[in-house]
Amino acid sequence: MDEYAVIINAGSSSLKFSVFRRPESNAWRLEVRGQIEGIGTRPQFSAKNEAGQSVADEQLDAAVNDGRTALAYVADWMRERYGGARVRGIGHRVVHGGARYTGPTIVTPEVLDDLRTLIPLAPLHQPYNLAAIEAVWERLPDVPQVACFDTSFHRGQPAVAELVPLPSEIRNTGVQRYGFHGLSYEYIASVLPSVAPGIANGRVIVAHLGSGASMCALKNGKSVDSTLGFTALDGLCMGTRPGAVDPGVILHLFQSLGLSAKEVETMLYKKSGLLGISGISNDMRALLASTEPAARLAVDYFVYRAAKEIGALAAVLGGIDGLVFTAGIGENSAEIRKRICQASAWLGIELDDESNARKGPRISTTASAVSAWVIPTNEELMIARHTGLLLGLIEQRV
Ligand code: ADP
Repeated sequence: MDEYAVIINAGSSSLKFSVFRRPESNAWRLEVRGQIEGIGTRPQFSAKNEAGQSVADEQLDAAVNDGRTALAYVADWMRERYGGARVRGIGHRVVHGGARYTGPTIVTPEVLDDLRTLIPLAPLHQPYNLAAIEAVWERLPDVPQVACFDTSFHRGQPAVAELVPLPSEIRNTGVQRYGFHGLSYEYIASVLPSVAPGIANGRVIVAHLGSGASMCALKNGKSVDSTLGFTALDGLCMGTRPGAVDPGVILHLFQSLGLSAKEVETMLYKKSGLLGISGISNDMRALLASTEPAARLAVDYFVYRAAKEIGALAAVLGGIDGLVFTAGIGENSAEIRKRICQASAWLGIELDDESNARKGPRISTTASAVSAWVIPTNEELMIARHTGLLLGLIEQRV
């Protein structure tokens, strides 16, 4: 009987899933990956097989209006496609693991309770991640579930990088810098030895530029600092999040403008960043296509902030050997890569326009002192590897 592991990445308006076949030679084989987007508005289901060919693409009934109904739809679709197959484990992306979860963890009711306490630190993701775990439990109570955290890869950073310089009674309640996008960075670190062996053991900045955006400073494949901190609000300008803001501005929102905590939370997570600056869109494609001055300002700020953070992380690393772009914007926008590389030319980065246009993977000239790369991320594969390892389905890291 065929055996599978299912990977779930549940968000507020989308449910992404991948099905991996049980490894025969310690390597997972992707069978299918798909998603339901527009949950709550206009749900659309699509899936592709390993070769990238579409195997499903359909508009769903509006009754698919939350994570639970979306998961039920995907489960029924899988049953039809893989009827009789055995699901050996389910791996979930969980955004926040706090200080306690320094690696992937098998979910128990106690673990779930613990993870719920972190919901206020990641309101955009954590509730949906956990709801998916609960929904799977109801349907498949005997299948082990593994939570893989976006924060774990960053544990082990130097104390100064994790510090939030507030009084100890506050820090003792778990107020520290955690960092996010760790599954993406861990995946990139895992492929550097084969894709870019010359920098794999060196000082590398990885720029994960998607709707959420951050950068990670890697030294010898380990995270030593990153631009996201206690929550996923710090650092770079993002689709709807501002990135670093003077905390005095937040005090002003409360004290002078009288905004409620909920209003401030909504502003910081959903109305700022590219959307807030442009007033047009949180989508980089739309902003690059627009001639509106506000759209240009949003793109300019995105690039400015990225270059500034590269400078800061280069200082942390004492210079850099390589710069890697990944995620939606990083993998697909030659223009943004070009502008960030130009702004970082002082570090010794010289872009090769032709390689940049065809996504490299190496996009710097051979003469460039610091190499630049485009490497597609694969958080699902990272979760599959962790799930397999933890459940004893594979014996060693592949
Ligand atoms: P997430 O997984 O965080 O939702 P993604 O990594 O999918 O986000 O990235 C989404 C972002 O990538 C959006 O801002 C989108 O506009 C941008 N993006 C995708 N393709 C392109 C492209 N060709 N040019 C510019 N931006 C792009």
